[in-house]
Amino acid sequence: MDPLPGATGRPGRLHAAVSYAARGWQVFVLGCTKRPVANCEPCAAAGPDHDREACLCLTCHGFYAATVDPDRITAMFAAVPDGLLAIRTGAVSGLTVVDIDPRNGGEFDRALMNPTTTVTTPGGGWHLYYAHPGRSLPGKLHGREGVDIKTDGGLVVAPPSTPAGAARGYRWTSQPRPVNEMAPRLLEACQVRSGLPVPAGTGSARTSSATAVGAGAISHPDALLAATLAAVDRAPQGRRRVTLYGAARGLARMVAADALSTLDAVAALTAAGQRNQQTPRDIRGAIKGGFEAEGLLSPV
Ligand SMILES: [Zn+2]
Ligand SMILES: [Zn+2]
Repeated sequence: MDPLPGATGRPGRLHAAVSYAARGWQVFVLGCTKRPVANCEPCAAAGPDHDREACLCLTCHGFYAATVDPDRITAMFAAVPDGLLAIRTGAVSGLTVVDIDPRNGGEFDRALMNPTTTVTTPGGGWHLYYAHPGRSLPGKLHGREGVDIKTDGGLVVAPPSTPAGAARGYRWTSQPRPVNEMAPRLLEACQVRSGLPVPAGTGSARTSSATAVGAGAISHPDALLAATLAAVDRAPQGRRRVTLYGAARGLARMVAADALSTLDAVAALTAAGQRNQQTPRDIRGAIKGGFEAEGLLSPV
């Protein structure tokens, strides 16, 4: 692996951004205070049907603008010269970052967190860059104050950015390491959610939506999925929205238990909503509400 770039200043950020993109990490710019760059007027005025993922604007919608295209990256830094370089985490970049913030009580637990590519943060903390495990994870490390998990639907500010007012910036640690997979013990700890079963068979990416999971988890995911979707199909007019929302919560729990992929859940819910003539807006609202109610990041 090439050494990770360290030069500071705007040329350093641009150079770093292009080199990250060459690794497949999707990059974008944030304002100098870590806030998202403001949306353009049409995007700011757009309703919930506006497709942020498909929007072609250079810097609108935060991490939805992230790209691996060097020309777009160059244009982003020209448009926001003092912008901070950020990476969209999750499957899109193949990255899951464990974010340890000692200001909130976070501790670097070397017994749990196996060595990997590491960034030191302006707040005296660490970003541990791991390979995305191929499954959704909750946003917090359960039972650990000050440790967040930045994965699907997340972002990290990346070196060599220095936020306005910070005494120092984000820096790669001097010891170059590859981006490793999470050790099974760490992945298992990351998957713990309050009130939800811990799936068995941790440590490898799942391969099929029909994967059987261990005792205490979902034993017949295909049957559960079929029954959930059948309830949507049977829902009478007037009950359709609430039934789709309930189905979204049920499928979100299956995603949480690693019995179903997020993509499959969204596809199944969208198709079910379309079969009973719900609007794209209502379908997205049901999916978003259902996932968030189960403590997951909205996939839409
Ligand atoms: Zn725009
Ligand atoms: Zn837009």
